[in-house]
Amino acid sequence: MNKFRKIYKKKKFKECPFCVWLKKYKKDVIEETENYYLTINHYPYIRHHLLIAPKAHITRLISEKHLEEKEYLTQQAGKIFLNLGIKDYVVLDRSGAKSGRSLKHVHRHVIPVRGPHDMYYRYAEIEGELDLAGDVRKYRKILNKYQVKDD
Ligand SMILES: [Zn+2]
Repeated sequence: MNKFRKIYKKKKFKECPFCVWLKKYKKDVIEETENYYLTINHYPYIRHHLLIAPKAHITRLISEKHLEEKEYLTQQAGKIFLNLGIKDYVVLDRSGAKSGRSLKHVHRHVIPVRGPHDMYYRYAEIEGELDLAGDVRKYRKILNKYQVKDD
């Protein structure tokens, strides 16, 4: 487990972080739609770990609406990765207490995969400190100029 995940494990949230994200961490939001937002994970499993959450406090995947917005932001995350040279990534949704989720508010993980058979992405070490603001600026710039080129 990397140092950021260790900090996260000890953290106690007074309020649902995903409900207050747009107020408290607006600077870390890469892109938002009417009902969802794409943001950087403050406690990443691996470098460039992104999150997509509905703005409403929804606790079950089957209660989500406006899924086309969620899929759109998932595609945007993929564009960011491809532009950073990350061709492989995992898209992860969890629902229910036994799914391994730590927060009830549903959220999608978009996690770069580093190497072959990298099933242990959640334990990836991250060297140095994170430059969240710098990364978010970089991601926004990529999305502003990105041109899709299929293989
Ligand atoms: Zn919430």
